Amino acid sequence: MPIPSPNLPKFGYLSFPSLKDPLSKGHTAEIIAHLDYDFFSQWREQSWRRRGTDYTALKAQITQSLIQLVERHYPGFQDLIEYAELSTPLTVEHFNASDRGAIYGIPCIPERLDQSWIGARTPIKNLYLTGADTMSLGIMGAMMGGVKTAGILNGAFGFFKIMATIMRK
Ligand SMILES: Cc1cc2nc3c(=O)[nH]c(=O)nc-3n(C[C@H](O)[C@H](O)[C@H](O)COP(=O)(O)OP(=O)(O)OC[C@H]3O[C@@H](n4cnc5c(N)ncnc54)[C@H](O)[C@@H]3O)c2cc1C
Repeated sequence: MPIPSPNLPKFGYLSFPSLKDPLSKGHTAEIIAHLDYDFFSQWREQSWRRRGTDYTALKAQITQSLIQLVERHYPGFQDLIEYAELSTPLTVEHFNASDRGAIYGIPCIPERLDQSWIGARTPIKNLYLTGADTMSLGIMGAMMGGVKTAGILNGAFGFFKIMATIMRK
């Protein structure tokens, strides 16, 4: 029986994380593309590495599709690959405990900013939150979430004091 196939990604985000490491001898490429969580939810009750042959075959199909997507734009890319690994929203849900396996956490939509629970303060005395979910998505969002929380802990105008120090240096 053919494996049910999601709409395979037609666009993606390509980066080379190992290039940030000047000492790295081998290199890694990362391709990120959107696939709907609901397509994988049929396997969500099964545990990591025990999701069966259909799931494994589907992952192989998606892996090839992503590599071919890049290959079309950068011919020769696939010949450089020694090892490829695919994570699905189930992987991210399992390892990051993020809702529906969303790698960027809470959706970055205008409604997000209206939620009273978005922020560093909590109803529990001396318990503060930080990271992307308190500010904005991604690495920069997480970093600014750290600055935001540190700012609150620094008292009045704490955020501005930190920003002023950063700008001076
Ligand atoms: C595959 C992938 C690629 C990505 N690529 C990019 C990119 O190119 N650019 C970009 O801007 N963003 C990217 N992101 C998103 C980015 O990684 C996140 O937005 C960012 O890491 C969020 O930082 P954070 O500190 O808020 O949370 P996290 O980085 O998730 O840190 C949370 C930490 O808390 C720990 N933790 C969780 N629960 C507990 C517990 N109960 N007790 C103790 N510790 C706990 C976790 O182990 C983790 O170390 C990517 C994410 C993924 C998954």
